[in-house]
Amino acid sequence: MNTALLRIEDLKKYFPIRVGLFGKVVGYIKAVDGVSFNVDAGEVVSLVGESGSGKTTIARCLLLLEKPTSGKILYDSEDITQLRGEKLRNYRRSVQAVFQNPFLSLDPRMNVFQIISEPVKNSMKLSREELLEYVSSLLELVGLDKSFLDKYPHELSGGQAQRVAIARAISLKPKLIILDEPTSALDVSVQAQILNLLADLKKELSLSYLLITHDLSIVKYISDRIIIIYLGKIMETGSSEEIFENPLHPYTRILFSSIPDPYRKFGERVILRGEPPSPVNPPPGCRFHTRCPYAIDICRKQEPPEIKSSLIHKVYCWLHTEKHSSETKT
Ligand code: SF4
Repeated sequence: MNTALLRIEDLKKYFPIRVGLFGKVVGYIKAVDGVSFNVDAGEVVSLVGESGSGKTTIARCLLLLEKPTSGKILYDSEDITQLRGEKLRNYRRSVQAVFQNPFLSLDPRMNVFQIISEPVKNSMKLSREELLEYVSSLLELVGLDKSFLDKYPHELSGGQAQRVAIARAISLKPKLIILDEPTSALDVSVQAQILNLLADLKKELSLSYLLITHDLSIVKYISDRIIIIYLGKIMETGSSEEIFENPLHPYTRILFSSIPDPYRKFGERVILRGEPPSPVNPPPGCRFHTRCPYAIDICRKQEPPEIKSSLIHKVYCWLHTEKHSSETKT
């Protein structure tokens, strides 16, 4: 049985909307609204959805940049919001992040050696020579040589800067790395190289990843499991093979239809109509019903139940309940 490294249980994050001098709360932005999933040791889980789906808010909760409104985030069976002292420091070392734009995450006043050695200096007792050797070995792991040690971020290409950000992320020997759109700011030719590097490092260092992206086409080869999220709720979840071979949710199929061949194999290209509804006042019933080409009456009234297609392939859609499938065919 796999061990859950990270377990998210019914996570909700509502941001209050305040008005007036006294900041009276007049409503809430329901960015994440009851999301549950886990990441097992050594697993790559991809969280896929449009901007505003809540995926980045989940990452920010994991990085302790936001406090959940309710629900639990358990890491190694401990609630991360309750961690203090050494346990909190261990968590921060153990969970690292790589962000979309490496140039925004690297301090322009520091050279590569300073950028990578900064977190190491504070948690490992190394002499200057040992530190230099360690940082050089990290650079080698990410495909850069020692000549990069003295370079500053502005002297690096996008791909090189992302490799430096990855070297920094692995410097404290983490177990889990949150990859927040790690390739979307890079040229298409460089994206594949960075994904291959991440796949190699995962194997070599026994890492787990939570990959956050809007782009289904980048997740196939790196993911073990895929979670499709829309307006703060999970729409479908399954193994990478299941989602790519047999996507069940209309939203997932529309996401597939918007990416280039060879992944686009589910009929004609379908353009997603309109903008997602406001998370301040999400639609009743199925959250996707205002944009779904297959919506039926019940979709507008009742939230769809969880339908299991396999042990791990689950979809939340009325089309897949026996009771209502005949209604949709008429
Ligand atoms: Fe579309 Fe209804 Fe399924 Fe929602 S539940 S995705 S509205 S068919």
